[in-house]
Amino acid sequence: MSSAENSVPLLDLKQQYRSIKPEIDAAVQRVVESQNFILGAEVDVFEAAAAEYCSSRCAVGVSSGTDALLLALMALRVGPGDEVITTPYTFFATAGSIARVGAKSVFVDIDPVTYNIDPAKIESAISPRTKAIMPVHLFGLCAEIDRINDVASRKNIPVIEDAAQAIGSEYRMKRAGSLGAVGCFSFFPSKNLGAFGDAGMVTTSDMELAERLRKLRVHGGMKRYFHDEVGGNFRIDALQAAVLAVKLKHLESWSEGRKRNAAVYRELFREAGLSGETSLSASSRPTPEHPISLPGEPAGFRHIYNQFVVRASRREELRVHLERNGVGSAVYYPLPLHLQECFSSLGYKAGSFPESELAAEETLALPIFPELSRKQLETVVKCCRDFYRK
Ligand SMILES: *Cc1c(COP(=O)(O)O)cnc(C)c1O
Repeated sequence: MSSAENSVPLLDLKQQYRSIKPEIDAAVQRVVESQNFILGAEVDVFEAAAAEYCSSRCAVGVSSGTDALLLALMALRVGPGDEVITTPYTFFATAGSIARVGAKSVFVDIDPVTYNIDPAKIESAISPRTKAIMPVHLFGLCAEIDRINDVASRKNIPVIEDAAQAIGSEYRMKRAGSLGAVGCFSFFPSKNLGAFGDAGMVTTSDMELAERLRKLRVHGGMKRYFHDEVGGNFRIDALQAAVLAVKLKHLESWSEGRKRNAAVYRELFREAGLSGETSLSASSRPTPEHPISLPGEPAGFRHIYNQFVVRASRREELRVHLERNGVGSAVYYPLPLHLQECFSSLGYKAGSFPESELAAEETLALPIFPELSRKQLETVVKCCRDFYRK
């Protein structure tokens, strides 16, 4: 049974806060003293630093990752009757935002190694109504953007990156958020760069689009109380921007810490005999001999491991065993979006996207946050070994 000292949480943000407490507390205090809570200098400073970090000309701070997606779709004038191509194996907000602007999600199955949209299947999903392609850089690994951009540019369709899990992730040395027409980020506390509440960001290098994003963020009017179109309140709080500006300076070292932990897991899972000598570019299905298959990390990608996701035999039993022994884990995501009740009118059914459905059945996210000790990683692997060797 679990004892507190052997327990390994899926995520513990208290350690991160303790490590930067004086800087954070000073930033929060500064905003409180100023009593300027909406947009303003704190937001400008954060946006400039975040744009640079994401290799984009412009960053627009917003109220959440969900609102970032919604705002990007609105700014690109995606609306009723339009179609947006995306993946069914993602967090709900991806397709939820498409539905909220009145457009229709057209799903394309994933690649089983990267868990990202399969670029080879996009072209046949394009119709005259396709207004955008929205790949997700899932778990911190970029989608194969060159192949996606290739199809998109031939058809003149903008690419909206759902980079909510991927700040600092790279594809061929280029950063997430600079790979499409717009990049959408979430600063939900569990993301690699987490706020003290909800926050998000949209990046673009198209200055006209940037201006539109800024306008729609404040109810569709650049001049106060004069509106040429209908936007919303999508503003980021000054308090969140101040916290995020401090945290951004540490993000590289945190993402490197996650990467280091991933490398330790690879070593430990192989030593324990639970995983085969899979090359980093190929993650195979679990087998009785090797019940855990490790995430792929193809050449040319920088994975930032927002999640460390394995495929596991008897996933549900393993999850319960870990829980009983004080090891946190989570299933991202148990039901692909094409099978969600609210999207039943789209007409998909079980079997429509076999790779997404299989991933939903087999995958499990293990603790990967940067402050974990080697001993804690050993505890996780030992707990998995005990389960399979029983
Ligand atoms: C977290 C997340 C979002 C939504 O972000 P919020 O800030 O929670 O609104 C969107 N897409 C993906 C892939 C996410 O992981």
